[in-house]
Amino acid sequence: MQNVDESSLWESVLAELQLGLSSANYQTWFKGKTAVLSRKNSVVEIGCSSSYNKVWLEERYQSKLKGIIDKITGGSNTISFTVAPAIQETLPSKKSVRENPTVPLFEENASSSVQKSLDEANVNKSYSFSSFVVGQSNQLAHAVSKAIVDSSTKHYNPLLVYGGVGVGKTHLLQAIAQATLLRQPEAKVMYISSETFTNDMIEAIQKRQTILFRDRYRSLDLLLIDDIQFIAGRESTQEQFFHTFNELYRRGKQIVLSCDRDPSKLSNLQERLKNRFAGGMSAKIDPPDLELREAILLAKSRGAGINLDFPIIQTLAKQSGPSIRELEGALLRLIAVSKLTDKKIDASLVETVIGAETSPQDMAQLVITSVSDYFSLKPAQLKSSGRVKQFMLPRQIAMYLLRHVVGKSFGAIAKIFSGKDRTTIMYSVKKVENLVKNDPEIQRIIGDLENKVTKS
Ligand code: ADP
Ligand code: MG
Repeated sequence: MQNVDESSLWESVLAELQLGLSSANYQTWFKGKTAVLSRKNSVVEIGCSSSYNKVWLEERYQSKLKGIIDKITGGSNTISFTVAPAIQETLPSKKSVRENPTVPLFEENASSSVQKSLDEANVNKSYSFSSFVVGQSNQLAHAVSKAIVDSSTKHYNPLLVYGGVGVGKTHLLQAIAQATLLRQPEAKVMYISSETFTNDMIEAIQKRQTILFRDRYRSLDLLLIDDIQFIAGRESTQEQFFHTFNELYRRGKQIVLSCDRDPSKLSNLQERLKNRFAGGMSAKIDPPDLELREAILLAKSRGAGINLDFPIIQTLAKQSGPSIRELEGALLRLIAVSKLTDKKIDASLVETVIGAETSPQDMAQLVITSVSDYFSLKPAQLKSSGRVKQFMLPRQIAMYLLRHVVGKSFGAIAKIFSGKDRTTIMYSVKKVENLVKNDPEIQRIIGDLENKVTKS
């Protein structure tokens, strides 16, 4: 066995991991969170910053780590994991950002001039590469997106990212725009939805400012158009887009597009556009698999400052569908209910809030019946639009619960109370929010009802 001390062994392992993992995964699980604590008789003890980290490494990375360590040490090792919370302070690594030139230096607090460029480019800072978790389904799209930012030669032009709803297309486009501007603040970058592109164009035609429109788009270094499926079927938008595209392409400028499906399958997209797209690089994002859903939940809950136990993450991830947006929604709902009812997030809360048996639809029904029972009304009376005084408060309480416990939108609540509009619902919910703060009796009623709804 070669003679390597613990810290240089771990440095080599990290270097190897960094090559094979996305930066999000590397930063989440390894960087600054792990170290070799000891190595005796071929037993390598790896310290993890939290029990969470430990579970995750055991579950996901044990064999990979063993492989790397065996290779470096030239022998077969047994790997064990230990929680060592002090690790984070003892590790000498605050230089992570500079080591990796693809990670922007000022991601969190861009200078005001960079901030201005970001705003002008329509960049939402929360959609960054570092908050994008990489798994099998989005690996290619992620790698190509990074390559666009990292390389000055346009190997992938245009880049087309496509896939279903909520799989991370917008997030990636935004991350490309953001990272490009953080590297080259003077670059002319624009992120735009194809709807806005269309509207801008129509407005330009109406105001007779088409030259201005043309110049604005054609002077860009990087143009990102999201959801191009919306331009299919719109002849003049496609026409304008085609010329913009050609002009940018001819000048060696980067174009990035997203679509909700393979554009060759868009029946009313012009052939010449399909040909242009086919001449570039396209990367499909598949629905996230279980492992990616778990990793995303973990990253998001940590981002919200909440440490969820591994089994909770597993349950949530298992029950969610293919849209990451829904996955996030479920997590937010769970956190909200936990705060509201002052309950710990455990299996039973997950079951009541997210559980397969209680879909949001059933929960809404449950709110209506619980509130009606509580005030000895009929559900129809509760839902009616009549202004009978004794129905008012119960109705408002039901609206409040639908909003805060079930997580319904104001619009969706308005539908349940036919005859009411969104503003009325917003007003009612606000009113009960104030009552809850100031009136102990209302507090008690709401508490009782919440229990009924979430425990049923
Ligand atoms: P799409 O544009 O494909 O419909 P979005 O990019 O809007 O999907 O993603 C939906 C939500 O899921 C966003 O909040 C986004 O930040 C999040 N999301 C999607 N993919 C990932 C990922 N790989 N890692 C972290 N968050 C993700
Ligand atoms: Mg999108």
